[in-house]
Amino acid sequence: MKFHPLFPIITLSAVVAFAEDKPSPIGYEDTPLIPGTQWRVHDIKRPAPNVVAPGKTSADAPADAVVLFDGKSNEQFRGKDGAPCPWKVENGELVVKGGDIWTKESFGSCQLHIEWLTQPETKGNSQKKGNSGVFFMDRYEAQILDCYNNPTYADGSAGAVYGQTPPLVNAVRPPGNWQVYDVIFTAAKVDQDGAVTEPAYVTTIINGICVQNHTKIMGPTVHRQTTSYKGKFPGQAPIRLQDHGNEPPVRFRNIWIRPLP
Ligand code: MG
Repeated sequence: MKFHPLFPIITLSAVVAFAEDKPSPIGYEDTPLIPGTQWRVHDIKRPAPNVVAPGKTSADAPADAVVLFDGKSNEQFRGKDGAPCPWKVENGELVVKGGDIWTKESFGSCQLHIEWLTQPETKGNSQKKGNSGVFFMDRYEAQILDCYNNPTYADGSAGAVYGQTPPLVNAVRPPGNWQVYDVIFTAAKVDQDGAVTEPAYVTTIINGICVQNHTKIMGPTVHRQTTSYKGKFPGQAPIRLQDHGNEPPVRFRNIWIRPLP
């Protein structure tokens, strides 16, 4: 028998075409159980993840986020002892002036997106230059600081768990540029009496660069002291943004949060 010279290619194409026609299985029922779960590998009965529409860009809030600041209103925040939020909205930006502010809502584990800007003409040095911060659960500070050519102690650098763990690298842009913070915060686990049974953790990305990778938080962040989880802790608490009083003020924009289970 004589074959056409292209016979192997024609045959292979036919096999590929047949394979493409056959739909891919959307799950299996005959695979082993994944240890520690009720699910089989590729289990057809395992619920599919919910659909969440992403924002237009990674700065924009996804559909299921709580928008804390959209450039218009400071209403998601309050000042000390329930006073109205003292920070003004200017140019679609939240201007840090008038003392610390707190979210009206309480949060535990969460994903937070926040952008900040310090000015090139900012006076001062070290911790007095463009200092602010995000205090998760009103306790654990993810440091914000103008760290561009500004020597300071490592555990007070931008992205530090303040007073505990320096960032893996210094990832800030020069002042005058917006800096982007994306933080995954895992709240400490507490028993029914509020005693901590498992510490809090934080993963921090600044300007697309990972600076904390599931870092264990040793306790509430404090200045010039060590810390621990002594006493009672809540399951949720407001997020605090810091006014460190540096001039000109730090500015914030695009703040949104997604509570995590
Ligand atoms: Mg600070």
